[in-house]
Amino acid sequence: MTFHCKNYNLENGKCKRLSGECVPARKGCVLEGRIAVSEELAERIQRINEEILQSSRKKSNK
Ligand code: SF4
Repeated sequence: MTFHCKNYNLENGKCKRLSGECVPARKGCVLEGRIAVSEELAERIQRINEEILQSSRKKSNK
């Protein structure tokens, strides 16, 4: 099965919806909660969520 997301920017390989890296099923992705993810992808999603959390904490401390 293949999937093409209308939010995927073919020019830079990024997600137009989330203005960042395309990682299927990440928070805010159209696939969030709709697909089963591999262990590797789940770890990647976890890492992104942590980076976003750290980034928002830095912004709120300014
Ligand atoms: S992160 Fe999700 S919504 Fe964004 S381009 Fe990738 S598959 Fe589409």
